Amino acid sequence: MLIQENQIKPQIYQAILIHPNISGGRCSGNLFLTASGVFFDSEAINYSISLMNLIINAGGAGNRFVFFRDKDHDNISIYTSDKSVLKNEVIVANRNLNEQVSYAKKMLNKLMLGTLALLGAVVLLIGALYLLKDKMVEGLASQVPVEWEKAAGDKLFTALSLQYNIIQNDSLEKEFVKVAGPLFKQVESQGYKVDLYFVKDPTINAFALPGGKVVVQTGLIENAKSWEEVMGVLGHELAHVTRRHHIRSVINNIGVFTILAATLGDVSALAGTFANIGGDLASLSNSRAFEHEADETGLDYLVAAKINPQGLISFFETLKKEHETKLNKKVEETIDLSFLSTHPSTQDRIDNLKERIKKINLRFSPLPGNFNSFKAVLQKSK
Ligand SMILES: [Zn+2]
Repeated sequence: MLIQENQIKPQIYQAILIHPNISGGRCSGNLFLTASGVFFDSEAINYSISLMNLIINAGGAGNRFVFFRDKDHDNISIYTSDKSVLKNEVIVANRNLNEQVSYAKKMLNKLMLGTLALLGAVVLLIGALYLLKDKMVEGLASQVPVEWEKAAGDKLFTALSLQYNIIQNDSLEKEFVKVAGPLFKQVESQGYKVDLYFVKDPTINAFALPGGKVVVQTGLIENAKSWEEVMGVLGHELAHVTRRHHIRSVINNIGVFTILAATLGDVSALAGTFANIGGDLASLSNSRAFEHEADETGLDYLVAAKINPQGLISFFETLKKEHETKLNKKVEETIDLSFLSTHPSTQDRIDNLKERIKKINLRFSPLPGNFNSFKAVLQKSK
């Protein structure tokens, strides 16, 4: 029977031995306990501590290890992160160790609570920073002078204009500004000068560049049914400018914390970065939040300009219908609806706008100028 008892394999724990005779001072290996003591086993060295001399305590880096020491050899210790070693039957059975073990357990629990509290604090901090981040981005963006945005937007426009067929027709522009003037005023009162360009392009789109250049593709006018629809899209695009979505998305991309760390509040350091990101600005990937913001601010501009904001909704509905028809027909070539982003969905945006319009009690008079004749002249323009 004795032989059989000896054959029971002891439980093995991964452990580290700190020993002055090992190169590097430490090595990893296996720890096990028997009735005669604590054993450390590795290719480099074997070491044991008799139960008589054993000292057990908890602590170490990160305060999460169980240490075994020989009371005669202060500079040597075996430690493991496997706390279950304290429940090993050899230790439990040895009454002389009880006090040390319960103290070590207490230490580990205390330390674990400390770690949990710290972890909780870190999670809270990250959460708070996350919530603050948008505000910080907005704050940083507001520090960027409009001239920088304008310079970046102009640079971008020069590059884009090479591939665009810009329609030059002063009387068309005048007619357009007659309608859009009050809307432009909303933006110009915030320090932006709106520069308008018509581009011969069947794409149903309009977009604004940072600083206030607005490009309207002829496809947008051709597919709109009224001035109000065009103005709705324009209001949205202009809101992207004034809400500084370009620079905010750039800051988002670079990382607000990187910028804060690099500049420590000195925004002039941003100038260099901003001057070199023309390309990024072109591919402004409007986030869901930015689209909603632009819809809502655009709506406010329209109302302030006494333009019926219902036009934006009806334009969205037309686009949605058209998009669905194309999808149903399974047309291979997809129409470019870049004004319509996939996120948020068009229906989301329609619902959101309808909800806001409900609260507005305004009567809108018809806009000046004949939209259809404007459309016809534009179509013929080169
Ligand atoms: Zn947009």
